[in-house]
Amino acid sequence: MSEKTMVENVKAYAVKKALAYLDGDPDKNIPKLLEWVDKYDKDNEYLTQRNAFRTVVNNPNNNWFRLMKSLWTDIDDDVRKTFFENFIVNTNLIGGARQKRFKEEHGCNIPWAILMDPTSACNLKCKGCWAAEYGNKLNMTYEQLDSIVKQGTEMGTYMYLFSGGEPLVRKDDIIKLCAAHPDCQFLAFTNGTLIDEKFADDMLRVKNFMPAISVEGFEEATDFRRGEGTFKAVIKAMRILKEKKLPFGASCCYTSKNVDSISSEEYIDLLVDSGAKFAWFFHYMPVGNDAVPELMPNPEQREIMYHQIRKFRETKPIFTIDFQNDGEFTKGCIAGGRNYLHINANGDIEPCAFIHYSDSNIKEQTLLEAYKRPLFMAYKEGQPFNSNHLRPCPMLENPEALKAIVEKSGAHSTDMQSPEDVANLYSKCKPYAENWTDKANELWDMSHQCTGCSGCQK
Ligand code: SF4
Repeated sequence: MSEKTMVENVKAYAVKKALAYLDGDPDKNIPKLLEWVDKYDKDNEYLTQRNAFRTVVNNPNNNWFRLMKSLWTDIDDDVRKTFFENFIVNTNLIGGARQKRFKEEHGCNIPWAILMDPTSACNLKCKGCWAAEYGNKLNMTYEQLDSIVKQGTEMGTYMYLFSGGEPLVRKDDIIKLCAAHPDCQFLAFTNGTLIDEKFADDMLRVKNFMPAISVEGFEEATDFRRGEGTFKAVIKAMRILKEKKLPFGASCCYTSKNVDSISSEEYIDLLVDSGAKFAWFFHYMPVGNDAVPELMPNPEQREIMYHQIRKFRETKPIFTIDFQNDGEFTKGCIAGGRNYLHINANGDIEPCAFIHYSDSNIKEQTLLEAYKRPLFMAYKEGQPFNSNHLRPCPMLENPEALKAIVEKSGAHSTDMQSPEDVANLYSKCKPYAENWTDKANELWDMSHQCTGCSGCQK
C-alpha cells in the first residue's frame, strides 16, 4: 500500500468514527464535533465550510438545520448510517482520492457517478420522452451491470444511478446489485408506479438504495405528460416510503407547460410534506427526432425557475438542485465523465443522459478505454463550454460545440429507432440558445457583480 493510500485510509477511518459519534446523539455531539474540527483546522483550510455549518446549527429554524434533523427523525437508523458511510466516506473521500489518482495517471476524466439504464422498457409512455424511442426490448444483463460497478469502484466511482426506460421494471436485479455492492450508493430515477410494500422492505434490507420519483407538478400537469392515474400512484409510493422511514426524493422536469405549477410554493410544500428529502429539477431537452421542441421553456419561464429554486434553497427543508441553472456550483457541464456519464440499455457509453451519441460500448471496451476515446476526450478538452455557467450545455446553449465534438470524434447516434443527425439536433437548439443568451448574461452579471470584496484579487 502506498503512503498516499495509507493516509487516505486513515482519514476515511477518522471520518467514519466521527460519523458514528455524531449519530449517537446529534444534538449533543454536533457542537463538540465542530469544536474538534476547529482545533484541527489550524490553517483555516475549511473556514468557509465551518462558518456555514455553524450558522446552520446555531439556528434551529434554519431550513438546512430542519432538513438535517429530519434525517434522524424520519429515516431508518441503519439506512441513514449506510448512506453517510457510502456517500461521505466511500463516494467522496475514498472514491474522490482514487478518481484523482486515475485522472492524473491516465490523463482522462474519471466520473464521480455512473448513470445506467438496466432496461429500455417502461410501463408508461410519457409525452416527449426519448425512452420510448429506444424501443422496449433492450436490457443489460445482470453480469454487465455488475461488471460496470466492479470496474467503476476500482477507479473510485461509488455512486450509481439508474434511469431507463423504467429501471424498476428490473427491480429484482437492482436489489441484487445493491446487495452485491454494499459499499456503493444506488439511486433510481423512477416513475414510482412500481414501488410497493415488498420493494420498500427490500430497500430496508439492502439499505443503500434511494428512489428519485418523477413528478411534473400537481395531478393535472403530471398526468398530462405521464398518463392518467400516475399522480395518484406517485403519492401512494411516497406514502409507503415515508411510513417505512426510507429516504427518497423527487425528479421534476420543467417544460413550457408546467413551469407555473412546478415552481410554486405549494408544490415544494407538497413534496416536503410527502417526505421527500431532495427535489432535482431538469429542463426539458429536445432530444430525438420525435422530441417536442415547443415543450422547451422560454427565457422568462426559465428565469422563474432560476429565482424560485434559489428561494426554496434558503427557506424549505429539502435539498433542491436545478441542473440547468446551477452550473455555477459545478463550474459548468458535468458530463463526459467529468463528474458523470450515461450507459444506455444497449451498452453504449454516452457523455450524458441527454446526449445520444457514442463511440464506445461496454460489450467492446472497458470503462477506462471508453474514457480515453475521442468523444470523452473532446468533452474534457471543451469543458467548460461557456464561461457563463447559466449556459453550460454543449447541446442546449452552445449547440455548435456538440456538433463539432460529434463530427470530430466520429461518434454515432445511439437512437436505435430513429438515429438523429447532430445537425438536426443543432437546428432545434440554436434558436433556443440565441433566445436565452441575453437573459442568461443579465442573470449571470447580476449575481457576479463586483462588491470590491478583494476575494478575486482584483
Ligand atoms: S451535456 Fe448538457 S445536460 Fe448533460 S450534463 Fe452537460 S450541460 Fe448538463
